[in-house]
Amino acid sequence: MNVVDPWRIEEERTSLPTPRWEELVAEARDLTAVILDLNHLIHRSNPWQTAGVLPSDALPELSKAGQITTPVAALIEARPVWQEGRMRVWVRGHCRADMVMTCVRCLADFPLDLTASIQAYYAVGADPAIQSRQWHIEEDLEFLTDGVLKIRHLVEEELLLALPMHPVCVSGCAGLCSACGADLNRNPCGCRVQASGSPFAVLKNWQFS
Ligand SMILES: [Zn+2]
Ligand SMILES: [Zn+2]
Repeated sequence: MNVVDPWRIEEERTSLPTPRWEELVAEARDLTAVILDLNHLIHRSNPWQTAGVLPSDALPELSKAGQITTPVAALIEARPVWQEGRMRVWVRGHCRADMVMTCVRCLADFPLDLTASIQAYYAVGADPAIQSRQWHIEEDLEFLTDGVLKIRHLVEEELLLALPMHPVCVSGCAGLCSACGADLNRNPCGCRVQASGSPFAVLKNWQFS
């Protein structure tokens, strides 16, 4: 078994090159059914790598958050490492989504170039943190009982984490007038009081960031 010491490849942690996104999208290699099988990977000596795209229907949760306008592109690399006396699989990569989001302040749609870096360790088996309270919880380590990781799940999870909590079209978006509903970015409406009967009154309770 050929195992890599994670400390010896420390310098590579930051140097996994960002792929050329346009090329990945143009090649259109569909990653929907691609899985990373940890059971198989721990017997490999060289890194496993995959690159391609995911259509929006492979990413249902991300699709709920916004409109995915071009296939999501991803580059994923995985390699076995020996860490704290145990076999792990170190997974890293880059992913990118072209989104159209709705501004929480003015409700206008705006484009969002969403990118995320992947950096995680995986192990095969049941999570010992659940079995034993003595085991310390490791933040970046995830246990997979069957040892199988779906690439689309990995990519979707990272992109969801990278999404802004309160998406705004521009950082200084003035939003809508709570009385008349006018877009205050375009024209100040002159309203002074907040009318309770306005159809936009509900926006008064909106949690703006
Ligand atoms: Zn806005
Ligand atoms: Zn107004």
